[in-house]
Amino acid sequence: MPAPVVTPQRTQQSPIKLHTLKSYYAPELKPIDFQYTKVSGVLEGEEFVLERVGPGCRVVFDGMECPLRKLHYHAPGEHRIDGVTADLELHLVHEIPAYPDEYPSAYLVVAVMLTPAVTKAAPQQALGPWLRGHFDARSGGARQTYEVDPSIYLPTERAYFRYEGSLTTGDADEVVSWVVLRSPQNIEGPGPLKLDPESARIVQPLMRRYVLRSFALIA
Ligand SMILES: [Zn+2]
Repeated sequence: MPAPVVTPQRTQQSPIKLHTLKSYYAPELKPIDFQYTKVSGVLEGEEFVLERVGPGCRVVFDGMECPLRKLHYHAPGEHRIDGVTADLELHLVHEIPAYPDEYPSAYLVVAVMLTPAVTKAAPQQALGPWLRGHFDARSGGARQTYEVDPSIYLPTERAYFRYEGSLTTGDADEVVSWVVLRSPQNIEGPGPLKLDPESARIVQPLMRRYVLRSFALIA
């Protein structure tokens, strides 16, 4: 009998559910080296796109230098960590300029769960204006530019989950190496935040993947 025809399908989609007890401790996963500093950029819709001037921000990920290109948010959070969905999930989108064979990905996205002060009290602010409260407006040319130090979004404790997946918007291309920080970061905005419209993709099946984690279980 001939082998069954294999239909190409997408098997590495994001986001996914992350479980501490169903993931695997990989001691070789090194701490992510965040080399962040104040950077300038422009807002394109709800996405902050960094200007490509100066040294910029980058992470060193498994020996590779990956520059930070943009950051954006999803409300509510997309990845679910041990059954919990955060109010906001920040995506720090880094480019993998030259990847070795073991990282056939175009992007390293670091996800951070944010816990803003959210209340039902009026007046609430939409996400865009709320986020701009973290940015320093800079007068400039035709386009309004802003400055921000993305390290304000990083929690002190940076243990993480690690898996291969996809973008969660657009065509959901499977070109992302994901690092999802386990600990959330408390972040203050200029007043209460209105969490709609929702901009989160629903969780996708794990399929034939394993999720690694950088932290051991404490007995
Ligand atoms: Zn995203």
